[in-house]
Amino acid sequence: MLSRRNILATAAVGAVSAATARAADFGNPDQPPEGAVNVTNPKALTDPGPQDPGLAGNEAAFQNPPATDVNGMSQFWTSFNLAPKRIQNGGWARQITVDDFKISSTIAGVNMRLGPNGVRELHWHQQAEWAVVTAGVCRITILDQLGRPQVADVAEGGLWYFPAGFPHSLQGLGPDGTEFVIAFDNGESSEFNTLLVTDWIAHTPPEVLAKNFGLPEEAFKNIPVHNRWIYQSNTPALSLAEVEAQMASAAGKPPNPFVFYSDQFKTIHETKSGSVRLADSTNFLVSKTIAATVVTIKPGGMREMHWHPNADEWNYWLKGEGRVTVFNTGPEAMTANFHPGDVGYVKKAFGHYVENTGDTDLVYMEVFKADRFEEIGLSDWLAHSPKDMVAETLNIDLSLLSQIPNDNPALVPA
Ligand code: MN
Ligand code: MN
Repeated sequence: MLSRRNILATAAVGAVSAATARAADFGNPDQPPEGAVNVTNPKALTDPGPQDPGLAGNEAAFQNPPATDVNGMSQFWTSFNLAPKRIQNGGWARQITVDDFKISSTIAGVNMRLGPNGVRELHWHQQAEWAVVTAGVCRITILDQLGRPQVADVAEGGLWYFPAGFPHSLQGLGPDGTEFVIAFDNGESSEFNTLLVTDWIAHTPPEVLAKNFGLPEEAFKNIPVHNRWIYQSNTPALSLAEVEAQMASAAGKPPNPFVFYSDQFKTIHETKSGSVRLADSTNFLVSKTIAATVVTIKPGGMREMHWHPNADEWNYWLKGEGRVTVFNTGPEAMTANFHPGDVGYVKKAFGHYVENTGDTDLVYMEVFKADRFEEIGLSDWLAHSPKDMVAETLNIDLSLLSQIPNDNPALVPA
């Protein structure tokens, strides 16, 4: 009976060669062996029970895990494509909180669409809100803790960051409205349960409202008794400059903007296989609890084996097709396929890599509840360790170690 290590070795070296002599050293040593490659009767691989081929077919790596995977890791894949929408006149939202995705303790995700002139009502919450615009243009308004307002129009690829408790609004502008993805810096946050201005006004006695705002009680006779959350509005009557003038405060403007435009990302890695572009508190100054990157991987390329020492990674998939394998102690290793609209989660310091499995550019975002982005590349670590120690540990020919990238390329082949 063939062992997995022999089969893997044979597959890896192709034709029988001198390498066969070392086959026993290659591959995954776990017993009993896992993977379809070890199945002797093909019938054992079939799935005669009930199934949804459309859904199952989307996750090839779940159906047929690599033989190096070790089953048993917490689920780190989910998708907005499978999240129910809350739809109101003007737009919709769907969310993935820790209730939906148990591993995601530090980040809750929201995918929101505001049609042309759809408004997400004036509100605030206990968590910080970071977002990336994925379509159209969104007009944001915010007031900071020193009474300094900002209004800005954010187009596709741009970000905003609203610190916890800072009140804000969102509006999709014409002609196409907007869509965006929010990351709250707490996995328990819910977009369906925020502090809404309508709720508070409706639950305050009219005489208190009159005293608070210096208006007659009658001014409040038509307030909505239910919240609006998302509602359909009209084309803004004022230009951006006019709104800004209308909102202006004697306290001035916030010293650092709460928005970040797509051309402001800093490229921190670029190779022939792609790039990593950064937005954290070093260049998006207000973003004190969320750090993010945009990763582009070209066909055939890979985000190299790496980990993040300072925070869990919540990732959101924008374009293309990819495959992620995560490694933990145990050992545990699990592989999942990712498509646009999917969400992944990698715990702090767990090893992982991302392969582009399609024939177009793969683009995803790495999002961290942290003030800055940090990473450690496996090749960089091995290249900058004692070579004889690495050769001895891994039983690799010492002379080959000088070929390992020593400049933390992030995207390989470099
Ligand atoms: Mn909000
Ligand atoms: Mn990563």
